[in-house]
Amino acid sequence: MPRIDLHAHTTCSDGSLTPTDLVRRAAAEGLAALAVTDHDTLAGLEEARATGATAGVEVIDGCEVTASLSAGVAHVLAYGFDPRDRDLAALLARVRAGRAERNRRMHERLAALAVPVDEEEVERHAIGSIVARPHFAAAMVAAGHVDTVRQAFDRYLADGAAAYVRTPAPPATEVVAGVVAAGGAPVLAHPRSLRLGTRAAYRRVLAELREAGLVGLEVDHPSQDPTQRATFGELADELDLVRTGGSDFHGASKPGIALGRGDGTIDVPYATWERLQARSGR
Ligand code: AMP
Ligand code: ZN
Ligand code: FE
Ligand code: FE
Repeated sequence: MPRIDLHAHTTCSDGSLTPTDLVRRAAAEGLAALAVTDHDTLAGLEEARATGATAGVEVIDGCEVTASLSAGVAHVLAYGFDPRDRDLAALLARVRAGRAERNRRMHERLAALAVPVDEEEVERHAIGSIVARPHFAAAMVAAGHVDTVRQAFDRYLADGAAAYVRTPAPPATEVVAGVVAAGGAPVLAHPRSLRLGTRAAYRRVLAELREAGLVGLEVDHPSQDPTQRATFGELADELDLVRTGGSDFHGASKPGIALGRGDGTIDVPYATWERLQARSGR
């Protein structure tokens, strides 16, 4: 069975490879299909598709959309939607506006913590239109405030750390419904990051999202250990959600994660994409 990757970032958000280089890497790895899932933007899809056509890789239109749950920030992966859908474009534009507001507040926090970084310096590290926390981290290293990106996250930028500001984003149910309306298949990314604690709490959230149109759950993700994957896999089965997986490849921005293989535990068959397509809004 040919292998695929359903979760990868480019320079259009916080990855280090351009869409073209990412798709070429997928071809070199022998992947049959690759979903390009930048944070809150579709900017890389056209280039990725064009490269895929010549490199012999099926490029799946994707996006990792920032969304809100009462428990915190959720990431909703979207696959196979109509990339020209106006309502989806408007939803993503709203999320990007929320990001810009959040980034202003993070600059204020960092200044108040006596580790200021220039807005221009942060933007210099962001090649595409999306400015995300890894770009702040790179700017903090360049400014000499910390030695490594890791330190920048641990001390300042990680969820709950001193300079962390939550991105104001639309409710996850609205994002899920928007993806379905655009003909796509919405999947909840790396559920562990929600840190809901109990299985019952996950069940409640997943049932609500399923009601809104969720079709899959990202069971295999490098951040989730075998026990967590077993639990999320069972929940996916119970709620009739497709079990998916992906590497969450970011290139040099996230060392130790390989395209198509993640930390060595990711191995997604082409059939997963077929299951998602069968459940998509088209
Ligand atoms: P943002 O969307 O701006 O909140 O940034 C999210 C991105 O930051 C994720 O996709 C990861 O690439 C990165 N990230 C989040 N938490 C960490 C962490 N603790 N250490 C390193 N990178 C992280
Ligand atoms: Zn990222
Ligand atoms: Fe994510
Ligand atoms: Fe991601």
